[in-house]
Amino acid sequence: MRIATRAGRTVLVSPDGATAVDVAKASDGAFGPDPRSVYDAWPEFVAWAASVAGVAGDPLRPDELGPPSPDPRQVFAIGLNYRDHVLESGLQIPASPSVFTKFVGSFAGPVGELALPADTVDWEAELVVIIGRRADRVPAGDGWSRVAGLTVGQDYSERTLQLAGVPPQFSLGKSYRGFAPQGPWLVSPDELPDSLTITCTINGETVQRGTTSQLIFGIPELVERLSAVVPLYPGDVIFTGTPAGVGGTRTPPRFLRPGDVVETSVEGIGTLRQRCVATS
Ligand code: ZN
Repeated sequence: MRIATRAGRTVLVSPDGATAVDVAKASDGAFGPDPRSVYDAWPEFVAWAASVAGVAGDPLRPDELGPPSPDPRQVFAIGLNYRDHVLESGLQIPASPSVFTKFVGSFAGPVGELALPADTVDWEAELVVIIGRRADRVPAGDGWSRVAGLTVGQDYSERTLQLAGVPPQFSLGKSYRGFAPQGPWLVSPDELPDSLTITCTINGETVQRGTTSQLIFGIPELVERLSAVVPLYPGDVIFTGTPAGVGGTRTPPRFLRPGDVVETSVEGIGTLRQRCVATS
């Protein structure tokens, strides 16, 4: 099953991504239109959605979509969660997840412009988890039962602000306007293989290519580790970390420039596309 958000309303997306059905209209108001209410009723919504298969929708364009969960109560982002990225960063494999947030004001849909606030903005292709059932002290063995689905995310990062201060604080430098694009849609886990290829290209050149089988803390373990501390709520978003190939650790470092086109893809889900522009 695939869902997206269009004009603030949840839509059910066809398997080929070409058409969509408005959930509130098709369910006579039982679900939606606002996305949070759909996540809050996730098990019932999934059962209803299975009955809608085959209903004709209207054409869907990725550039008119918002993030699949546009107003989560909580947003978690995991740093240093792929071995090859830890090594390129010159750091040690973490014994527990390194967690920061991307503030919701940085959220954006899958396609659009990225205004560069500085000349040290970096890219981080990521698999993003959206929670579908409240999780409070959930063991990893039950972790998947709390997941609504997966989507594609970019953890754009302004490295100068991210690394300023002692100790550095990640969240603000990763939360400029438009720094958390997600989409184009949520895909339920039953439609995806265990390991997904994740890529990032700039102007067609591949700069990141990894697989989610390389995650140090996998999705069920993240549900366990996070929910041991704080309950997770339906609609909550987890950026799971990025594989090797970011720009800031290169010699010399490479950062985004106006005119660059960044495409971020996860196999079986879809692609994000941002065109970088100077901040006016
Ligand atoms: Zn990241």
